[in-house]
Amino acid sequence: MVHMVATKISILPDDVASQIAAGEVVERPASVVKELIENAIDANAKHIIIRFNDAGKKLIEVVDDGDGIPLDELEIAVSRHATSKLHFADDLFNITTLGFRGEALASIGSISRLTVTSKFLGDSYGGKIIVDSGIAQPVEKVGVKQGTTVTVKNIFYNVPARLKFLKKDNTEIRQVISLISRYATAYPNLRFHLYQDNKTILKTSGNGDTREVLAGIYGVEIAKQMIEVVLEERDIQVTGFTSPTGITRSNRREITFFVNGRWVQDASLATALYQAYRTMLMVGRYPISFIHLGLNPEAVDVNVHPAKAEIRFKNPDLVFSTVQRAIRRALMASSPMPLISNSQWQTPYYAQRIPDPAWEMAGDIRTTGSSTPGQFSGTPSGVINIGQGSFPKSQVPILHVVGQVGAAYIIAEGPDGLYLVDQHAAHERILFERYLNQIKTQIPTQTLIEPVIVSVSPQNTKMLVDNLENLNQLGFDITEFGPGLFQVRGVPAFLQAGEPAEMIRAVVEDLEEDEAPLEKVLIERLIARICKRAAVKAGKLLDKTEQEQMIHDLEACANPRTCPHGRPTMIHLSVDMLERQFGRHGSR
Ligand code: ADP
Ligand code: MG
Repeated sequence: MVHMVATKISILPDDVASQIAAGEVVERPASVVKELIENAIDANAKHIIIRFNDAGKKLIEVVDDGDGIPLDELEIAVSRHATSKLHFADDLFNITTLGFRGEALASIGSISRLTVTSKFLGDSYGGKIIVDSGIAQPVEKVGVKQGTTVTVKNIFYNVPARLKFLKKDNTEIRQVISLISRYATAYPNLRFHLYQDNKTILKTSGNGDTREVLAGIYGVEIAKQMIEVVLEERDIQVTGFTSPTGITRSNRREITFFVNGRWVQDASLATALYQAYRTMLMVGRYPISFIHLGLNPEAVDVNVHPAKAEIRFKNPDLVFSTVQRAIRRALMASSPMPLISNSQWQTPYYAQRIPDPAWEMAGDIRTTGSSTPGQFSGTPSGVINIGQGSFPKSQVPILHVVGQVGAAYIIAEGPDGLYLVDQHAAHERILFERYLNQIKTQIPTQTLIEPVIVSVSPQNTKMLVDNLENLNQLGFDITEFGPGLFQVRGVPAFLQAGEPAEMIRAVVEDLEEDEAPLEKVLIERLIARICKRAAVKAGKLLDKTEQEQMIHDLEACANPRTCPHGRPTMIHLSVDMLERQFGRHGSR
């Protein structure tokens, strides 16, 4: 027998209904900030100040100097489906403002303690309304400056389930910072000032120079190198900045699309971007891109998702191909020199012809037609052995250096054939093992003659601060110097790092948020990243002594055949295999 509790279908009480709906618009502090700055932008603000404390959980405040809300409309502004931006259903197909659903303020008011203070254009005094947990208090008259201040305190205090659902503070903080960075880039004519726990994190001048905004976010060097994208075709304007192939990230977080002033997350636009870069990036690397699409509002449906982050294009294929073309052209125009890629070495012609069981071991060399140059898709199992090698897989014999090719590889001869050594991967391996050996004792720091000041993007500042102790344990001497600024006074002595600033920036930029690996794993990853940055690059000519030193150091490694990231450091062409190739086998 089944026991049932009798329940009646009932209409949810209003406050519950609005809390549920609030979840759609207001998921987290960053979504509150997004709604508030969109309101400020819609109100023609020129200057927007954003403050948040305690990862936004205690306080979020957005102050703007926009048109303001008339006193007698304050009460309605905070009620559900109250908007000044839409009047007729047809307007939904021609939306030119960021807001239109009229639910942000009401939703926010239902899950926090919300205060809206505002003075409307030309009015002599303003008004103030407080909404606590969805209950509005009467509007009060107040003397305030032109514009609107929205204060959100104790978000989700009345919905503990949602509060628990929030990510770690760092993640929430990062989301707010990257949101403001995106809007500041999209609206270079507006002045943004972002404070986190009363410290300035980002400040833009509003002078209209997007590159200047990018400099505030990514540092001057990267901003200088960003490639401008401009294309207008068939009523679609594509403008923005995208990074050259040498500046990449290990995740897609720095890829931003705006459509008609609205930040959107659209997988097909991202795909168009990757395709524009096709064959130019390593697998798992992503560009930094900020792309703005301008198209007729009627060609986009923005009313797809409560948070308005998803959109639908009337003609997605046209948009897609235009974006791809715009970016591809910009990239091509900016790289007059053929890109150094490993395509020359990717598919040795002989690898395509010989059916030999040994190819089974040959990793991606074997999968010729399908693999894309520049991508590494082989099993990271170690050396690519062409032909049967007679040495234990993990070791290398004593090698005799023949020379360097393509300023990227060292050719060496061993008792069992030829070795083609990737100088960058090999050097990474050497530095990595040296590091691991030294860390057992203490890593000697070399003090720089002149301390170097490194500026780090707002998003990465926190990450660098979190890893400062680790880096200092690893032989660096870095201290905080000001907002987004760090002073490097020393580097690990054995690294002989030419550009400590560049290296540190690169290392933090690769750090992933949210992964909380064990301390040991974290340290190893940090070391691997540092070595990757410090290692000799492909393209660097090495003299004979340097080549020999490198091969010698590699021979001494415990795991000479892979770089710390698992890619092969060398390709081995065995005598046996060479003989086959030259048709000597069997003719003896
Ligand atoms: P929506 O933006 O979708 O219209 P909101 O709930 O975000 O809905 O805001 C409701 C209304 O309050 C807006 O339509 C606008 O008239 C007014 N409003 C909200 N924020 C501001 C602001 N910062 N400046 C001027 N008016 C605002
Ligand atoms: Mg709004």
